[in-house]
Amino acid sequence: KFITFEGPDGAGKTTVLNMISEQLRSRLGNGMILTREPGGNRISEKIREVILDRENTEMDARTEALLYAAARRQHLAETILPALNAGKVVFCDRYVDSSVAYQGAGRSIGEEEVANMNLFATNGLTPNLTLYFEVPVEVGLERIKLHRTASRVDRLDLEKQAFHERVHAAYLELAKANQDRIKVIDATRPVEEVAKETMNLLISELNN
Ligand code: C5P
Ligand code: MG
Repeated sequence: KFITFEGPDGAGKTTVLNMISEQLRSRLGNGMILTREPGGNRISEKIREVILDRENTEMDARTEALLYAAARRQHLAETILPALNAGKVVFCDRYVDSSVAYQGAGRSIGEEEVANMNLFATNGLTPNLTLYFEVPVEVGLERIKLHRTASRVDRLDLEKQAFHERVHAAYLELAKANQDRIKVIDATRPVEEVAKETMNLLISELNN
């Protein structure tokens, strides 16, 4: 099984994943991996460096989308597919939906175009389940301000409110259009509650 986690900035995805990772491990042992893009492989990390290098201010939106897709492909080839082929459950922090939302809508390439390009990159590998952590843009951005680190401040300056509004709207559209795959979690609630619901949804997915 292939399960992904999605959400706008400040949704608390990473915090919740850190909270539940031990519970997942004690249930599934070596029968699972918890990974995140770009997945820590050599090639994807190099690609990621190019994307995140703040000197690359001239980077074109489609270039960025292609680089994310390339890093995703390598992560798929090196990490996700081998694990799935070994019968493991794969939990992945961000996947194609992130590109549809951030590059497709946020960077205004168009959701369809980015989805199609990722179809090539993934050869159509789609998650069995996606948990989408929903928070309004203002709540997410406020949380990030509260937990500022140096790099996040830079990021926040670069990425304006309107960008995040487009990302958020695209996520909601994706959730609406893919209700069989995407389950929406209200991530405005206290993190313990969000973690609990996340665990419950994962357990019921693993049991069927
Ligand atoms: O998953 P995490 O919150 O750490 O993502 C870090 C940032 O990377 C996001 O806030 C977003 O700005 C950026 N990102 C992106 N396009 C993607 C994935 C992530 O712009 N496809
Ligand atoms: Mg995060």
